[in-house]
Amino acid sequence: MKIYADNAATTKMSKTAIQAMLPYMEEIFGNPSSLYSIGQTAAEAVFKARESIAECLGCMPAEIYFTSGGSESDNQAIRSAAEFGAKKNKKHIISTAFEHHAVLHTLKKLQKEGFEVTLLDVNENGIVNPEQVEQAIRPDTCLVTVMYANNEIGTIQPIAKIGEICRAKKVTFHTDAVQAVGHIPVNVKNDNVDMLSISAHKFHGPKGVGVLYVRKGIYLSNLIEGGSQERGKRGGTENVPGIVAAAAALKEAVSDLPESSQKLVPLRDKLIDGLLAIPHSVLNGDKEQRLPGNVNICFEGIEGESLLLLLDAKGISASSGSACTSGSLDPSHVLLAIGRPHEIAHGSLRLSLSDENTEEEIDYIIQEVKNVVNYLRNMSPVWRDLQEGKKNYVIQ
Ligand SMILES: *Cc1c(COP(=O)(O)O)cnc(C)c1O
Repeated sequence: MKIYADNAATTKMSKTAIQAMLPYMEEIFGNPSSLYSIGQTAAEAVFKARESIAECLGCMPAEIYFTSGGSESDNQAIRSAAEFGAKKNKKHIISTAFEHHAVLHTLKKLQKEGFEVTLLDVNENGIVNPEQVEQAIRPDTCLVTVMYANNEIGTIQPIAKIGEICRAKKVTFHTDAVQAVGHIPVNVKNDNVDMLSISAHKFHGPKGVGVLYVRKGIYLSNLIEGGSQERGKRGGTENVPGIVAAAAALKEAVSDLPESSQKLVPLRDKLIDGLLAIPHSVLNGDKEQRLPGNVNICFEGIEGESLLLLLDAKGISASSGSACTSGSLDPSHVLLAIGRPHEIAHGSLRLSLSDENTEEEIDYIIQEVKNVVNYLRNMSPVWRDLQEGKKNYVIQ
């Protein structure tokens, strides 16, 4: 069996999205800035895609900027707010300890440039407390950036509440909604968001296409100097096929949302319950405030990388955390942020489902993870020490 369970890393493109982009690579290949008809037809397609995405997010088309992905959107949102803040001598930014590296590394860079960054803790369930955000806001705060849903543990944050606080305090609020949009209902107006990042390849669209929503009146610096594309903010010929496919994928994901989450939640919960039946295992992140497809579990006495390799040999594609950190020996900053000790954080497994996964696959995953965990524990000196009482279990 071949099972793909790493949809938080990337998704397979939907047939609808592929079909939508094909004409713009074949006959309608024109440059949207050209005046002849194949150029203008391409321009029209970008115009329609912008309208469609705006409708899905609950904003105006003029508030949508196309980018190269979630990372670019995050970088530019944060940099713009910082640049605007600096002009008024406001150089304090609030974020959280478990953001994506596109956010955390941008903030680290800004710290070197003289900004002060407050990284809020999250609770042991992986949820940010809005009151803490409120308390952290100072007169010189220029930006609050809190992710909508965490990419490793799938926890959904109280974004509307945080947005309300920021709006009342007149502080710009950005959210990295890359894991949320297309997976749970998101509306920038209801959520009181000023800037929001999304990425098409996380909702069955193509890689290399993202969107930055910037509320009317919020400052955005020039992302790329060049031509007048994206209303002069981001020069360069538009990625027409990618933009068209991103819009098609988002529309499909949003309209399928009620149905797909109805299918996914029981599968997710079955998988969680099945895996927690393995002794000395624990779920990472809140069980309820959680993305419909996310499962993340720590197994004591296990090394995540070996678990993944053995699961791969059984046809299961999974992850131990984010794709960006795998390959490094550092434990996940997200698991450390929710208070998992180092040795436990190393033994994590993330399975992120899409509505293409079946119940039969869930049964197979549960069985194979059980087998592999047993196999690895039987070989592990750490596990022997735990069993013989030479060490204490961290996970009861
Ligand atoms: C994947 C991801 C990103 C990066 O998006 P890219 O399009 O791959 O650059 C940013 N934030 C979160 C939460 C993500 O899951």
